[in-house]
Amino acid sequence: MSGRFLSIGECMVELSQAGAGLLRKGFAGDTLNTAWYARACLPAKWSVDYFTAVGDDAMSDEMLAFFEEAGIGTGLIRRIKGKAPGLYMISLKNGERSFSYWRESAAARQLAADPDILRQAIESADVIYFSGITLAILSHNDADTLLSEARRAKASGKLVAFDPNIRPRLWSGYDEMHATISEGARAASLVLPSFEDEALHFGDASIDATIQRYRALGVRDIVVKNGADGITLNFGGTETFVASEKVETVVDTTSAGDSFNGAFLAHYLERPDAPAAARFAAKVAARVVSEHGALVAKGKLGV
Ligand code: AMP
Repeated sequence: MSGRFLSIGECMVELSQAGAGLLRKGFAGDTLNTAWYARACLPAKWSVDYFTAVGDDAMSDEMLAFFEEAGIGTGLIRRIKGKAPGLYMISLKNGERSFSYWRESAAARQLAADPDILRQAIESADVIYFSGITLAILSHNDADTLLSEARRAKASGKLVAFDPNIRPRLWSGYDEMHATISEGARAASLVLPSFEDEALHFGDASIDATIQRYRALGVRDIVVKNGADGITLNFGGTETFVASEKVETVVDTTSAGDSFNGAFLAHYLERPDAPAAARFAAKVAARVVSEHGALVAKGKLGV
């Protein structure tokens, strides 16, 4: 099979500590990370595109050049006059990382503000991926627009994949967060939650409770990630457990779930064998947590 994989969301400028008071600039964001790993794992006959909005400043230009360099298509990306990308900085204190964000006025917040452009982008794709973070950064109205386009894509038979990626600080309240994430799942054919988040924020007592909750929302296929403790798949009611890979030393878990999703989808699109895709994705995610940073080069992934 071949086609276009479209990931929708926000990529930010990342500033990390480079020693002696210097900062290193990078680009990252959950849906961009997933596009990165999908690109690394899919054969060349697939195109991988990112859909977001950027500004017209030099940093937006650099960001688009970075995507292109990674083989991620930018042709669908909106450019908004007078705007700039969001930014976050990673601080280190006694080995503990903390994050500061400047993203309230980011161009990406308007990614769904033009319904026609969003529809064209989704219509041009065969597979659509978005997350709870994508929904969280949008206005109510724009989140509704994205959800209705995702439902339309699902109804037309496209694979629509959704990672709830629950980040309470991005939401104005728990009720809104629960309701909108549930709508995101309802609009998807495949949901890839992380059990730790679901237990913490939805109160799920077990992986089975997570699966039942998403099944009740009409999701056909569910992949529950649970860190080092393995992956539980429920595809159309058939349940399988896949063990995580053993990792000698966990260096940095940033992007573990995002890389798993990109690798899982890449494998699954080529061969619809969900347990095999999960075994492959567990290998890729294990390499990612063994390295620093969100975006690990293809050469280090063993793919
Ligand atoms: P999570 O979102 O934390 O459940 O992690 C996503 C995926 O990354 C998991 O399904 C595992 O495949 C992998 N992973 C995360 N943490 C570890 C770990 N400590 N050891 C091995 N694999 C891991």
